[in-house]
Amino acid sequence: MKCDPNLYRAAPPSLAVKPRLVRQLFLPPLIIALMIGLGYIGFWVSERYGIRSLSENGQRQLELHARAVESEISKYTYLPSLLELETSVSQLLADPTPEHRQTVNDYLEGLNRRSRSRAIYVMDTTGRVMATSNWRDFDSYLGEDLSFRAYFQSAIRGQPGRFYGIGSTNGEPGYYLAHGLEEHGKIIGVAVVKVRLEAMEERWQRARLEAFVSDENGIIILSSDPARRLKSVVPLSDETKEKLARSLQYYWFPLNELQPLARETLSEGVEKLTFPANSELVSDDENISYLSQTRPLSDTPWNFTLLTPLQDLRREAINQGILVAVAFALLAFLLIAWNERRKVIATRLAAREALQEANNQLERRITERTVDLRASNERLKGQIRERRHAEETLRHAQDELVQAGKLAAIGQMSTSIAHELNQPLAALRTLSGNTVRFLERGQLDVASTNLKTINELIDRMGRITASLRSFARRGDDKGQACLGKGVDAALQLLDGRMKHTHLHRHFEAVQVRIDQTRLEQILVNLIGNALDAMLAQPQPELWLEGEEFDGKYRLRVRDNGHGIDAETRKHLFEPFFTTKPGEQGLGLGLTLSASLAAATGGHLGVEHPASGGTAFVLSLPLVSPTPAKPI
Ligand code: ADP
Repeated sequence: MKCDPNLYRAAPPSLAVKPRLVRQLFLPPLIIALMIGLGYIGFWVSERYGIRSLSENGQRQLELHARAVESEISKYTYLPSLLELETSVSQLLADPTPEHRQTVNDYLEGLNRRSRSRAIYVMDTTGRVMATSNWRDFDSYLGEDLSFRAYFQSAIRGQPGRFYGIGSTNGEPGYYLAHGLEEHGKIIGVAVVKVRLEAMEERWQRARLEAFVSDENGIIILSSDPARRLKSVVPLSDETKEKLARSLQYYWFPLNELQPLARETLSEGVEKLTFPANSELVSDDENISYLSQTRPLSDTPWNFTLLTPLQDLRREAINQGILVAVAFALLAFLLIAWNERRKVIATRLAAREALQEANNQLERRITERTVDLRASNERLKGQIRERRHAEETLRHAQDELVQAGKLAAIGQMSTSIAHELNQPLAALRTLSGNTVRFLERGQLDVASTNLKTINELIDRMGRITASLRSFARRGDDKGQACLGKGVDAALQLLDGRMKHTHLHRHFEAVQVRIDQTRLEQILVNLIGNALDAMLAQPQPELWLEGEEFDGKYRLRVRDNGHGIDAETRKHLFEPFFTTKPGEQGLGLGLTLSASLAAATGGHLGVEHPASGGTAFVLSLPLVSPTPAKPI
């Protein structure tokens, strides 16, 4: 089957290989880059979205807890002003006797217990503590001069004193609310309530809330995380630090700044703060980010800040980023696989189409060829018929030729046959005449002996004529012959000419595939020729040598005659070629013998031995390759 080469012609290497190579080289890095890019976008979007939803939720939390702080603080706002109504207080301020002091001390102690504040005390206009709820304690404020306190200075001026500070007596932090006590429009003293707000911190801790309250100086006064307490959320100048140190508001605490690693303002009051790892605020090994939401607390200059850790959100965003990257990788993989499959299908379809086209072409050609073949088949049939006819004619002609050859051979031999027959005939004539005479004389013994001799002579003559008859008879290409018998028959036929010839027999009595008569014909020809060639030889010798070779039996008929000259060798097997003078040779013997041998699948060849003479080699197919017993 021949295919159209155009259908399967590959693209030129420069076109086919390059884009594939480029794709193989650049596609993996491109996919990885896109994975990273999309993963980052996924992370970023997820983080932003998460921050937004966290900040909405945080806003509610912020509001809730800020209100709680406000209500906690405002709960005590009225308390210092309440002392204005208490006559014992005004009496003490007007007349500070020990009795009055004790009365007020007891009153303040009771009030403090009921209001669950930390301490309540009353100061005169100079800032000295006149009476206090903790008068029993060893670190009582009684008699202390607290005029340096900012809340006192505000209250003495008639303004509400609000102050968060650390007590100078016992170093305890607290929220101080001061009120100037008026009598007849004149400030006669200051009432102060100290409140502890740590309960709120505990509440935050219990609620696992990260929050802090920073005061007007930006110092964290309340924090769910004790480590953040008394840290500054804004940068403090040296001057401010010194001023604050002097006021002893924060006792002797160093007031370090709460320094975030990164600060990103997301909206009004909303920031993203990142604190470095290993800072005193972060126990983790990695940086930690918070969403910081701040709101001012009403009635105070303070701010409430809610911190929402972003670790979970970040982890979630990283997961989302990875998910996006993996989803993209999967999609890319699916796309590549789909594309490859599409290409394979396209190639298959193209190949199928090409195959179909090739098939169609093939079928067209087959149809054309079939027509041609049919025509040539018809022609061939005609030729075969003609050949058969020619073969028939040839065979017929060959048979005729063989027959003619035989007849010719008989003609040639007629002289010697006549001679052969004449001798016994003459002997018969003499013997029969003699016998008659012996019978007349009554010599029966001699007559009987003569008759026996006559019989023998007749037998011999019969044998000669029988050989001639069988030689002249038509044979066929099939049949079997015994080589020994064939040789004997031929020798018998040529017996008259063999008298002086020394015969060497070295062959086996094998069965060969040839008609017996034809074998004899061939042998008569070959031996006859040999005898002719040895006519001038004083010691003629004839060798008949046989051997099995390749399923055939070769019989070499060799003589020590005159041999064959170079010119004669060229025409040896040509019909009617003869070197024999006059009527002696017809030139048909070798031609016929060769054609008879060939007709059975055998062969007749000639050799020219260096020692002289000629050897004809007759090769005939064996009936059974196993040789018979030697003769
Ligand atoms: P014919 O015997 O009638 O001449 P052949 O075909 O038998 O025809 O032989 C052709 C010729 O081949 C002979 O005339 C002879 O010259 C030569 N030839 C055949 N056999 C021998 C032989 N054994 N030795 C020498 N010459 C031979």
